[in-house]
Amino acid sequence: MELVLPDRTHSVAADLRRAIGPEKVKDDFPTRTAYAVDASIYKVTPQAIVVAESETDIQTVVDYAARTGVPVTPRAAGTNLTGSAIGSGIILDISRLNRILEVNREEKWARVQPGIVYAELNKRLAPSGLIFGPDPSSGDMCKLGGMLANNSSGPHTLRYGSVKDNVHALRLYVESCGWLDARPYALADPRLAELLVAYPPLREVLGLVREHAALIRARRPAVSKNSCGYNLFGLVDGLDRALFDLPKLFVGSEGTLGLISEATVRLVDRPKATATALLHFRSLEEVGDAVVDLLTLSPSALEVMDSNTLDLIGRAQHGIPSDAAATLLAEFDQESGSHGIEESITAQAARMADLCRRYRLAADPVVAFDREQREALWKARKALYPTLYRYDQRKKPINYVDDVVVRAERLSELIRYLEDFFGGQRVRVAIFGHIGNGNAHIVPLLDVNDPEDFARMVEGYREIHQTVLTRFGGSICGEHGDGRVRAEFVRRMFGEELYNLFVRVKRSLDPSGVLNPGVKISDTPFTAHIDYTRLSKACATCGKCNSVCPVYDVFQSEDMSSRGWYEIVTAKDYSYLNSQRVVEACLNCKSCRTVCPADVDVSDLILKRRAEHPNRMAGYVFALHARPWLFEPLLKAAARTQRLWDRPRPRAWLERLTRPFLRRIAHTARIPREMVLPRLAIRHLRDRYPELTRNAGSTNGRRVAYFHGCAANYFDDGVGDAVIAVLRRHGVEPALPPQRCSGTPIQTYGHAGLVAEGARYNLAALAPYETVVTGCASCTLMLKDYPALFEGKPEQDAAAQLARRVKHLAEFAAESPPVRMERDRTTAPALKVTYHSSCHLRAAGVTKQPRQVLAALPGVELIEMEDADRCAGGAGTYILKDYDTALKIFERKRQAIDQSGADVVATSCPACMIQLTNGLRGRVRVAHIAELLRDAYTGASPPTEDRRASDP
Ligand SMILES: Cc1cc2nc3c(=O)[nH]c(=O)nc-3n(C[C@H](O)[C@H](O)[C@H](O)COP(=O)(O)OP(=O)(O)OC[C@H]3O[C@@H](n4cnc5c(N)ncnc54)[C@H](O)[C@@H]3O)c2cc1C
Ligand code: SF4
Ligand code: SF4
Repeated sequence: MELVLPDRTHSVAADLRRAIGPEKVKDDFPTRTAYAVDASIYKVTPQAIVVAESETDIQTVVDYAARTGVPVTPRAAGTNLTGSAIGSGIILDISRLNRILEVNREEKWARVQPGIVYAELNKRLAPSGLIFGPDPSSGDMCKLGGMLANNSSGPHTLRYGSVKDNVHALRLYVESCGWLDARPYALADPRLAELLVAYPPLREVLGLVREHAALIRARRPAVSKNSCGYNLFGLVDGLDRALFDLPKLFVGSEGTLGLISEATVRLVDRPKATATALLHFRSLEEVGDAVVDLLTLSPSALEVMDSNTLDLIGRAQHGIPSDAAATLLAEFDQESGSHGIEESITAQAARMADLCRRYRLAADPVVAFDREQREALWKARKALYPTLYRYDQRKKPINYVDDVVVRAERLSELIRYLEDFFGGQRVRVAIFGHIGNGNAHIVPLLDVNDPEDFARMVEGYREIHQTVLTRFGGSICGEHGDGRVRAEFVRRMFGEELYNLFVRVKRSLDPSGVLNPGVKISDTPFTAHIDYTRLSKACATCGKCNSVCPVYDVFQSEDMSSRGWYEIVTAKDYSYLNSQRVVEACLNCKSCRTVCPADVDVSDLILKRRAEHPNRMAGYVFALHARPWLFEPLLKAAARTQRLWDRPRPRAWLERLTRPFLRRIAHTARIPREMVLPRLAIRHLRDRYPELTRNAGSTNGRRVAYFHGCAANYFDDGVGDAVIAVLRRHGVEPALPPQRCSGTPIQTYGHAGLVAEGARYNLAALAPYETVVTGCASCTLMLKDYPALFEGKPEQDAAAQLARRVKHLAEFAAESPPVRMERDRTTAPALKVTYHSSCHLRAAGVTKQPRQVLAALPGVELIEMEDADRCAGGAGTYILKDYDTALKIFERKRQAIDQSGADVVATSCPACMIQLTNGLRGRVRVAHIAELLRDAYTGASPPTEDRRASDP
């Protein structure tokens, strides 16, 4: 009879809270739900989650785990495809350990903490002209800790190698050793002797490797890349060079041997020139031969997509010839920059084109040198994941044979075999990958809830892995790791003897077996823990949305992240009460929706959940707002007296007096005394332009309506006047039809009924106009989103028509014939302008036009800032709902603006202006794009100071 153990869930978290403090330990429903998944097909719900902030936290957790036998799973971004960052015990998230500790430019290395995002690391290294080379395609979201533990690599492995080739040293906590500085030690170095005395488990490992060196050599996979099993091969290589090369053992060990708190990584020079080529082959077999030829030119990347993949992504859409059997993407880098170098990269591209003449290509090679054109060539390859995710409602891309490696020259043969195999199974499959290394990613589309597809998956798993081993002499894992998905096959890949050696190494370093059990070294079948429910949902748990979610950026904790929220609000045990904390934390910035390859709109799901519990206090405010005869006089009274009350002492009272009311909106909501409030307009925009508002209900022959929204009407922010002036310069006399709030702020507090009511009003008021121009990013998005609001309802058609007619002013200006500019292009000193791209305008698909119109202005030098596309943290009323978090979010933006050296930060949204003005406090002028256009059109010299940014 099975022993029934008491549920220790809460005691684990309680113990850990006592040990390391309450803020870093969570075990509530939302947190456990969010951490139950990674980007794999699995789900395992943990008992407790620790978000480590120091090495002491790591040590405490591992010691506790070893003492109590509760498993511990390290976790970084959770983007692995194998189930290696989920576990049934404690999840130890290292994301907050994300600093670059040291960079040595001369010796080209950096000492870095494991929580840093790969793209972030390279962004921060940019000024030094260096990069960390291995580049997984998930680089925007994955973190160094996960890359180290998985021995990741990517398209440019050919040039830079895998992570294991780029690590000098690691600092880790090992259960049987304590803190360990793992670096290569010369065998003759007396410090090694001391190390082995201090750490007997290491002596055991070294002894095992020495004793079994012949076996290890004999079982080494004969391929250029392998992440399966423990890298005892690297240790044997070290012995050949008279080294105990410790980092090699830990890189790729998937959190099963120790916890990394720091890594010293090798850096390389950023390439100075790059050429990218797209080659379409008529015959798959010839691709294999061409790869052997192309490798002689030392490419930095060689990527292949098979014909199934080309069909799936859409040949016509990406200009791929119908008779292409496979497409090859080749890239060549040059390091040091000089005139001669440019020539040499061109010469290399010419040599490549020459070489390709031997083969039957379906079209001439396309070669690009500049960044934009090169990115266009990568577009088809990058469209792959989105296409696979969206391809079918039921059949999803399932990663279970996703990462095999054969010798590069046999990859065509492997692809042919795979196409036949999946053809026989009648399964659609995408086969693509790093052909230069013989590494194929195989992603079949299956409905694992269908028993027949499930059987196909199990058959494919066994058959393909076995064939890769026996017929091709390859490896089952090139870069994604073994995790839970390949653990079952590791024994078969290496044979009993070597597998037992892996087990002995594991036991030496993790004697109580608490580090990530079930991963890499495990006999559990790969079908255990499959998350059937999740695999029938839209989200692929890829984590891309987390990389842009401003809340995740601040908290670095999965329960405060877009992907986590998807899991939480779609869980069967979800209730508003058990998840209110997280459901109320989303800014509704829509950044997640903009990047999601599976077309999931997490913010919309959250808004629907909020609509189940509309906020009553916010409802009173909106009800007041809906009565302009009462609301507007009150607001004007406040505007007339703003000079009196908008001063430090009265503001302190205002904060105190309004707090009890605002607390009923959110426990963090307040009107902070230190916040720079927008100046309220004594005469509202509609009062200032009576000639444009007359005859409500009739267009007066006007074809363009200006939907000013609330902010431009009520605030003295200069936006409304500027929009009208710009439209007039374009020869348009706009109408200001009666209008209600577009709905965005109302929606964020769950009042779906009020949103629909306002939207109906706006639909009717805007119906007669050919074009509806807005100056507000949120209004633009909301009006364009009305069709979704009325899906299946009688208003849907009218909403769709309106959506087509709505334009942000930046779109309008970009699409209109040029206007004569009064400002002299030559005399004015260039005003350095940087553009903050408002989230809602990005979500509406308007990203190029604002930059285009700004760049075309005389006297303006447009500077692209880092992170221009990241949320600034204002998000309508969020700045009042949670001021402290809003400020933390803004910090990244502040740094980017400072670094840009701009005089002016331009934006397309009055709400963003409030956040920027408050955050920058006059150091950099904040302007709406309409103001800059108006000034250039009229020749007005731009103000150098921000008149809005006076401290209270
Ligand atoms: C769309 C997509 C594309 C991808 N493309 C690639 C690709 O091109 N190449 C590639 O190699 N991979 C790719 N991956 C897989 C994955 O992104 C990488 O393996 C990545 O490096 C994992 O990093 P992570 O931060 O998400 O780690 P996690 O998933 O959080 O963890 C991965 C492993 O690292 C361990 N770990 C994390 N931190 C530590 C630590 N501090 N100490 C010890 N162990 C730790 C975990 O326990 C786990 O075993 C892709 C994934 C997706 C979703
Ligand atoms: S919501 Fe989209 S981006 Fe986010 S994890 Fe799911 S599939 Fe990936
Ligand atoms: S809307 Fe913004 S804050 Fe909310 S989940 Fe998406 S990215 Fe995060």
